[in-house]
Amino acid sequence: MNNKKSQELYNKGLKHLVGAVNSPVRAFKSVGGNPLFMERAHGSKIYDVDGNEYIDLVLSYGPMILGHGNANVIEAVQKQVCTGFTFGASTENEIILAEMVCNAFPGMDKVRFVNSGTEAIMSAIRLARAYTGKNHIIKFAGCYHGHSDSLLVAAGSGLVTYSLPGSAGVPNDAVKNTLIAEYNNIDSVKKHLAECDDIAAIFIEPIAGNMGVVLPTDDFIKELRKITKEKGILLVVDEVMTGFRSKFGGAQELLGIEADITCLGKVVGGGFPVGAYGAREEIMNRVSPLGNVYQAGTLSGNPVAMAAGIATLTELKAQNPYDKFNQQAATIEKALLDAAAENGIDLTVNRFGSMINPFFSTKKITNFTAAQECNTTQFTKFFWGLIENGIYIPPSQFEAWFLSSVISDEDLNKIVTGINNAMKLI
Ligand SMILES: *Cc1c(COP(=O)(O)O)cnc(C)c1O
Repeated sequence: MNNKKSQELYNKGLKHLVGAVNSPVRAFKSVGGNPLFMERAHGSKIYDVDGNEYIDLVLSYGPMILGHGNANVIEAVQKQVCTGFTFGASTENEIILAEMVCNAFPGMDKVRFVNSGTEAIMSAIRLARAYTGKNHIIKFAGCYHGHSDSLLVAAGSGLVTYSLPGSAGVPNDAVKNTLIAEYNNIDSVKKHLAECDDIAAIFIEPIAGNMGVVLPTDDFIKELRKITKEKGILLVVDEVMTGFRSKFGGAQELLGIEADITCLGKVVGGGFPVGAYGAREEIMNRVSPLGNVYQAGTLSGNPVAMAAGIATLTELKAQNPYDKFNQQAATIEKALLDAAAENGIDLTVNRFGSMINPFFSTKKITNFTAAQECNTTQFTKFFWGLIENGIYIPPSQFEAWFLSSVISDEDLNKIVTGINNAMKLI
């Protein structure tokens, strides 16, 4: 495979960009190579600067659920660009997107748009603390909730990939109110509850996607909802990744729970920087200007981003690709397991809707500890094998693969063949 131009741009990028990237996972560090520079994308495919074509299963780490260049989204964005980029004032688009989002999440009366998932979560922490008058929060090892200080402990993906316990530059004071529990282990939550009566909120990815895809057991998630309700602790469901991915709405509905605060990002902005947090009216009314929880943003509710979000959700609702996602993910799962068995490789596959990923392990992966025990050397070989076969997956064992609604039968066959070829190389 020819990577000459990517290599050149990488070397050039190193001068004024940190590691030639603007987000660490893009650096390909955990798969021992240099990043591919992308030039354009269309439909299910993405093309690097050397002209190599890939079926895109990264999809910008989630947002591009319709594939690239959906005509309706392009039209909506172009129209808004010609009308005005940003006004620093309210626009009708914000009301339209807010209505769509609130209607899709039963527990949400009101929503506030921000510019990223990180921002949504860090605002939710402040709101939960103000609403409950308590200080501590609980998070689960392996769940990632963005890069704000107080949640940058035992987080997944980037941090797992680089085996860092947290991050330099975060003072102990910033994480002293963050308690860590184990995913799928309700006793680890109950222990904290027994020892601390100052807990404002529990943060969870309803389907974990940042330690690889890990599903909660039915007992665990329902019990979590029950005990938080009993103790007056807010359950903050981080649907930044899962929102609109497995149904039109959230994973919480499929799991039979309702969040106190829901956080969104990725798909809701249709490829533009949008995050959101929403809740029942009594909680959201605590936010400024109605309440005394301050939170603001120069570009929040940006008209172009709102237009992209509205067009994306409208199209998604019309397409209703969720059954197709399940079928295609099942095909990919079977291909992975069959190819692994044929080559004598230990493999487990976890999936939920349009999120799927293989773990090079014999174990069932139900928490962070199990995920970390995977054979990342095998993953690395598999990753480069898929790249050689024109399949672009995230360059980390601990990131989910995503499906877009434009993956054709032909694409799916190519993915299956690519999996077979790449598994032989391990
Ligand atoms: C991506 C992600 C975030 C952070 O969103 P950004 O837009 O990258 O700040 C938070 N939580 C989850 C579950 C995510 O997948």
